[in-house]
Amino acid sequence: MIGCCNPHLQYLSRKREIDAAVRRVMDSGWYILGEEVKAFESEFAAYTRVDFGVGVACGTDAIHLALAACEIGPGDEVITVSHTAVATVAAIEQAGAVPVFVDVEPRYFTMDPGKVEAAITPRTRAVIPVHLYGQPVDLDPILETGRRRGLRVIEDCAQAHGARYKSKRVGSCGDLACFSFYPTKNLGALGDGGMVVTPDPELDQRLRLLREYGWAERYVSHVQGMNSRLDELQAAILRVKLCKLDEDNAARARIAQQYDAGLVDCDVVLPARREDGTHVYHQYVVRAPRRDALRQHLRDHGIAAQIHFPVPVHLQPAYRGRLGGSDNLPETERAAREVLSLPIYPGLEASEVQTVLEGVRAFV
Ligand SMILES: *Cc1c(COP(=O)(O)O)cnc(C)c1O
Repeated sequence: MIGCCNPHLQYLSRKREIDAAVRRVMDSGWYILGEEVKAFESEFAAYTRVDFGVGVACGTDAIHLALAACEIGPGDEVITVSHTAVATVAAIEQAGAVPVFVDVEPRYFTMDPGKVEAAITPRTRAVIPVHLYGQPVDLDPILETGRRRGLRVIEDCAQAHGARYKSKRVGSCGDLACFSFYPTKNLGALGDGGMVVTPDPELDQRLRLLREYGWAERYVSHVQGMNSRLDELQAAILRVKLCKLDEDNAARARIAQQYDAGLVDCDVVLPARREDGTHVYHQYVVRAPRRDALRQHLRDHGIAAQIHFPVPVHLQPAYRGRLGGSDNLPETERAAREVLSLPIYPGLEASEVQTVLEGVRAFV
């Protein structure tokens, strides 16, 4: 079966360096918040072109902590999209705030900036656009609305490590930005991990308190914090993989080009790219009118195409009928019916790409 991602293959391709990094940590005798985390925080912040990075336990916590650092919580509303990983929405509720949804742009599957203004109420404190599938959100109009209405803009970059919006890296445009290092992400650990980056030294300091019990010094809590730390092993592994991130993203882009060329005259809608951004192809997502039948056909031919995401967050049992904006998301609901992610990951062989192309072409 050709899968949608293959973190084991990625490990094998860097095995020697990763194993050496793991051994280095094991032998150091220091396993939580040490030199590896400190080095990875500054290396990843520099890569993203932001001054500060704070390692945390996962991407969901990164969003939760970013909101908490802005003192956004109970009674506050946060505008985001429903066409996203459930984590974006779960994190807003973990912080105690209320998610409010706006629809996505049909061409790009990302937040429609024109819908944000109408969703703002006196309780709105922040907007969380999601750079979905590796494609940057059209951020400038959202940043402009945020400035004019006094809202924080927090980028969800969990699917877009290394992508650019205009000349900037995603993650360097908003007040804060959140990354996940879940194993299947473009930059993935061999376990859980996450990071919040920010240009603001005060937010950086608050995040450092919040991620470890509110401690400014050991055993003395200055604010009500939590436990959300990145461990040394994951940081050491991520340092190895960060060096290869651009190379890995280039490999993804080459596969995307092969799909584009091979599917150009097929009855599927190919992923649109913004002129003013670079897509890093966390997923290669087509729209197919008979999506479920195409997916089954591919499965019968040994190809595990996935659906990201089959049920929009606002229609999932845990959220249905209780969150603002849920009754007016036609493009989100259409996307959920039509999207299909084809296999894309560094190390996917040209012959496998060919198998996928033949599978799709035989169907449509
Ligand atoms: C993966 C993901 C997250 C959450 O990351 P975890 O590390 O799994 O908690 C958040 N937002 C989006 C868009 C994601 O894809």
